[in-house]
Amino acid sequence: MREERISPLDVALEQLRITAEKTDLDPGIHEMLKYPKRSLVVSIPIKLDNGEVSVFMGCRVQHNGARGPFKGGIRYHPDVTLDEVIALAMWMTWKCAVVDIPYGGAKGGVSCNPKLMSKSELERLTRRYTNALLDIMGPFRDVPAPDVYTDEQVMAWIMDTYSQFRGYTVPECVTGKPLILGGSEGRVEAAARGAFICGREAVRRLGMKMKGAAVAVQGFGNVGWNAAKIAYDTGCKIIAVSDSSGGIYRKQGLNPYEVYEHKKKSGSVVAHKGSEKITNEELLELECDILIPAALENQITTVNAKNISAKIVAEGANGPTTPEADRILFEKGVFLVPDILANAGGVTVSFYEWVQNLEREHWPLEEVNSKLENKMVKSFNDVYETAKKEKTDMRTAALMLGIGRVGEAIKTLGIWP
Ligand code: NAD
Repeated sequence: MREERISPLDVALEQLRITAEKTDLDPGIHEMLKYPKRSLVVSIPIKLDNGEVSVFMGCRVQHNGARGPFKGGIRYHPDVTLDEVIALAMWMTWKCAVVDIPYGGAKGGVSCNPKLMSKSELERLTRRYTNALLDIMGPFRDVPAPDVYTDEQVMAWIMDTYSQFRGYTVPECVTGKPLILGGSEGRVEAAARGAFICGREAVRRLGMKMKGAAVAVQGFGNVGWNAAKIAYDTGCKIIAVSDSSGGIYRKQGLNPYEVYEHKKKSGSVVAHKGSEKITNEELLELECDILIPAALENQITTVNAKNISAKIVAEGANGPTTPEADRILFEKGVFLVPDILANAGGVTVSFYEWVQNLEREHWPLEEVNSKLENKMVKSFNDVYETAKKEKTDMRTAALMLGIGRVGEAIKTLGIWP
């Protein structure tokens, strides 16, 4: 990972500061938004398969709920810290407001290495963690979803644990579930589809063409793999992809379906037939039309921003770019679609899943995708028009919209008592 010593929380607070200054945000509301409403830190003891006990740190942060129930993913990763989760929860608050869905922002995390754990250890960890969150989660309180290294199976265990304690089945307590348990069509690829739609809209604005556009994707998990697949199916050329073990490059283009099969067998995209090995750092600096960072935070920093050669950056990941790097990219003329817009397709279809669960309905894929398409295009246009009007970059414009809506909601509700 690139080293510019700035934590995700510093990034999130700096973005809030810049936006507050630009919008003359009420100082009291600015102060309120710097801190989460609630942070719960829990220890999660579980029995490992060898009979020993191991204890993991877990947390859930609820940042602001002025616009609706808290919503946000759960991350399992060795680098999870409370500060990181606070930053991610804050971004969720702005994100839900940018795409105008009635949720507040939250995030959860467990500091663990799921790659070194068995399926049954992960199940015990998930159930014990869910048990620790019981008092603060629920369909109208806080609704978790998948994030890095958590998936549909983890969501199924969360739903079951919550339901066991309530005494009846509550599918609407979590989203990103398997279809058989009330998951939504299109949820698995929703964040990637949203990022793709944003990339496509940016291509249109720049007068470029999607057909044959060179795309590089960092991270080959839920967001990265699906983004590569959707872009490939639309006629883009996927010139590079990567994961935590490194990256691969092929000037003439890779077939992401074949790369996916290779990763399934070997555990990584690296050493895929006919490709050249590159590092994650090199991937970010490749000359391409669209760069999709879809891994972790702090990837584009002052160290490499001046070397970014992509025309468009569509942030599939949360927080991949630091504020100083933002400024460098803007000055270079790179069209950056910020995370709180670009990856908002995930929470949008999570919202659709929640609505379907509450109504006991199941919508067809075409309906979900068409609602998502309309939502993303409208949100992109709102941010683009704001950026033009305010003569600023897309990140600041998105933050102005999101934070503005949250601030307005708080003001209208009033500060109780
Ligand atoms: P995932 O666990 O499915 O995939 C993560 C990928 O990143 C894996 O391919 C992993 O190998 C790779 N990776 C990990 N460390 C890396 C490193 N140091 N360098 C390069 N690659 C690395 O996770 P995901 O759900 O695809 O999430 C990826 C990003 O997208 C995160 O920032 C997440 O917060 C964001 N996001 C996810 C969703 C969602 O619905 N899953 C929605 C919005 C945003």
